[in-house]
Amino acid sequence: MKKRLAILGSTGSIGVNALRVVSAMKKDFEVVALSADTNTKLLSRQIKTFKPRIVCVGRGELCRKVRGVPGHKIGCVYGQDGLKEIVSRKDIDIILFAISGTACLVPLVEAIKNKKTIALANKEALVSAGSIVMGLARRNNVRIIPVDSEHSAIFQCLDGRRDALSKIYLTGSGGPLLNVDRSKFNTLSREFVLRHPKWNMGKKISVDSATMMNKGLEVIEAQHLFNMPHDLIEVLIHPEAIVHSMVEFADGAILAQLGVPDMRIPIQFALTYPERKSAKFGRVMFSETPNLTFRKPDLQKFPCLGLARRAASEGGTTPAVLCASDEEAVKMFLAGRISFLDIPKVVEMVLSRHHNVASGDYSISDVLDKEEWAREEAKSICSR
Ligand code: MG
Repeated sequence: MKKRLAILGSTGSIGVNALRVVSAMKKDFEVVALSADTNTKLLSRQIKTFKPRIVCVGRGELCRKVRGVPGHKIGCVYGQDGLKEIVSRKDIDIILFAISGTACLVPLVEAIKNKKTIALANKEALVSAGSIVMGLARRNNVRIIPVDSEHSAIFQCLDGRRDALSKIYLTGSGGPLLNVDRSKFNTLSREFVLRHPKWNMGKKISVDSATMMNKGLEVIEAQHLFNMPHDLIEVLIHPEAIVHSMVEFADGAILAQLGVPDMRIPIQFALTYPERKSAKFGRVMFSETPNLTFRKPDLQKFPCLGLARRAASEGGTTPAVLCASDEEAVKMFLAGRISFLDIPKVVEMVLSRHHNVASGDYSISDVLDKEEWAREEAKSICSR
């Protein structure tokens, strides 16, 4: 039996890699649905190759630009309602959430309510509303399989045995600015910031990697996925990007997951789970690999990591505010409106104005309201 698949965010870097995985495993998967925001050109090419039954685009007028294949009937829906329609279809078994940013939350919640298996590449939904999302998944008996490489590594190491877990080591390559002196940060071009040494990714996550907000968001993501206090999640800089994370057990034993930095590995693992299938991805050649090194991150140089820790320990609606204000600040940076060094300043200012609602006391709509408020605050700070 083929697994029937929906890929939300199919034209982004995770989506494209997922379709490469699926291409090599045609016997295992049928692509039922794809979604893209505005890149209808690439979406039309994907439709030709994978012949989904339905696609979703960002806005209604874009449906006209989606080209089907002669003789192949395809439905087109749009916006958040379109995504909701896709995630509630009966002919879909597993949904890959590869939409970046906070826009993922509502369709994710809907998919869980519809008891779909979730392969989750988006981190913002868990950061903003992790306790709600994980609680909902538990109650609906829904499996959330992480795709983010670090969390996939932890998931693989734990293999369902959470009981004696005592610590998580979350590794990160350190991003494009690891060896750039902080005194040069105010002159950085967008192009330089977007050029990651180890992973080729979308713009939002590339900027987040440069500020190391990405690693901060990943701490909060791990907190929820593995039910672990954030102070037992240690970030380690590992520039070689071979060890994708590690777990330590109560007896001091440590398990790590290693591999070449290729997102197709965690994507394929999530899609084929609980099975592990063969693939022709690259292999780690230990005799030719330089030493594997680990060091502490520099919190002075990368204040976003500290801001994320603060949000992790406050909990409640603070991580949602962190997430949304960062998203807005990154947008402003990419638009040339603020400098690289302004990103953590904007986030910090928004956090300091926020009145936290404690965990357990808020709903999805409270989270969405807080996110909206945080985006507006960030915008008004940037326009001054
Ligand atoms: Mg990651």
